[in-house]
Amino acid sequence: MNLSLEKKQVVDVARGAFNSGRSRPLQYRKQQLRALLRLIRERQADIAAALKQDLNRSEFDTPLLELIGLEKDIKLAESKLSDWTSPQPVEKNLLTISDDVYIQAEPLGVVLIIGAWNYPWALTLQPLVGAIAAGNAAVVKPSELSKNSASLLKELLPQYLDKEMYPVVNGGVPETQELLRQRFDHIFYTGSSTVGKVVMEAAARHLTPVTLELGGKSPCYIDKDCDIAVACRRITWGKFTNCGQTCIAPDYILCHPSIQNRVIEEIRLTLLEFYGEDPKTSPDYSRIINQHHFERVLALMEGCTVAVGGESDKTLCYIAPTILKDVLPHARVMQEEIFGPVLPIITVSDVSEVIRFINEREKPLALYVFSSDKRVIKRMLSETTSGGVVVNDVIMHYTVSSLPFGGVGNSGMGKYHGKHTFDQLSHHRACLIKSLAMESLNKARYPPLTPSRLHRA
Ligand code: NAD
Repeated sequence: MNLSLEKKQVVDVARGAFNSGRSRPLQYRKQQLRALLRLIRERQADIAAALKQDLNRSEFDTPLLELIGLEKDIKLAESKLSDWTSPQPVEKNLLTISDDVYIQAEPLGVVLIIGAWNYPWALTLQPLVGAIAAGNAAVVKPSELSKNSASLLKELLPQYLDKEMYPVVNGGVPETQELLRQRFDHIFYTGSSTVGKVVMEAAARHLTPVTLELGGKSPCYIDKDCDIAVACRRITWGKFTNCGQTCIAPDYILCHPSIQNRVIEEIRLTLLEFYGEDPKTSPDYSRIINQHHFERVLALMEGCTVAVGGESDKTLCYIAPTILKDVLPHARVMQEEIFGPVLPIITVSDVSEVIRFINEREKPLALYVFSSDKRVIKRMLSETTSGGVVVNDVIMHYTVSSLPFGGVGNSGMGKYHGKHTFDQLSHHRACLIKSLAMESLNKARYPPLTPSRLHRA
């Protein structure tokens, strides 16, 4: 069948399911949420096996990196759904004092969820939790690059969920582009900023609102006044987990020249502790997703001084945890998001230079600050911006579902996690319910208007 017709049919079936009204009752939504929970619990071993094939991900990392947050979000949505969907009364004015005035969250319709490959389960299913909770239908398009996870998702989702309401579409760029030609009521995209623009352009044709969870370079400042050993331990975990393929991994380090060698040594020691003498043989060290990204990450290192690591093996898509020292701001590695296990260090003279450096570039998805000095922390928070900011740790804001997760400017728009996903995928309808009685109260607004009547109103 022709690609366009095929995609249209999938969306038509999802829209038909939505129009049937069966996703509106809370009982249905809760039942689908519970089914999703069962899927990730019963099929955890299969999910871990797919991730091992896709990214050489350790099976012990699967619950921590993909499933715990998802489970928390499902349970939260199920337990709070009645609250979230009940009318929210708002403050009234004199003219509406006796009316019912409230905000009602209601479904948008059919949502398209386009996921990325680096955390293929969390990044497609967490938006789906919000879509289900809000009463929408959703077409799920996993990334074609994590192909084992994508085909497992296509096999499993219809076994557990309403398959007309939540179809999975697999395929590459042509399939995604065909989907984007269809009309949706919201598009939730996770991936690069470049493709984010393609998605937004396609969405504009139908005036479809978008959530764009994008990437970029997330800076990490280590102040002289800080416990450098602890800072480096936390940074090493955040940077090299999933082989650096994490949207909120610290992309590069900024620090004073006097502490650069200490930072390198502390990260080297931590790497030794985490992954042993040869990270290639560590079951906890992942691989680059494919040859294309392998070549891309290697090319970024050109012209830089390697302080730690630098080894690679093309046949295994392996790149050792690598630290680059004395990197210049115009180096190639500083021109795009690294999305791999390469950590450049750029030296700066003081906090003012750090702030300038960050503000001269695109607004980052995450910003990390390590310092014991409250004044430094305060300046970094008040004089910069980013999707999220963490002081004295990395990544952990992602795990707090009450915090909105998302970017700003080039790192994205919209937010999700916890209730934020429900809000993002709902329409918040303004409702005013008046009785037909007490018509005399409305006199003041009807013509013919006179100054005295207006004054009284
Ligand atoms: P990717 O190549 O898998 O692309 C993501 C999706 O976009 C896929 O489903 C793919 O089919 C589709 N796609 C790719 N090219 C397209 C095109 N030309 N037209 C239409 N659709 C297209 O993933 P990626 O972009 O390599 O992902 C990595 C990026 O995602 C990084 O920048 C990373 O920071 C970002 N990311 C962001 C988050 C977040 O939550 N903000 C999470 C993970 C990844």
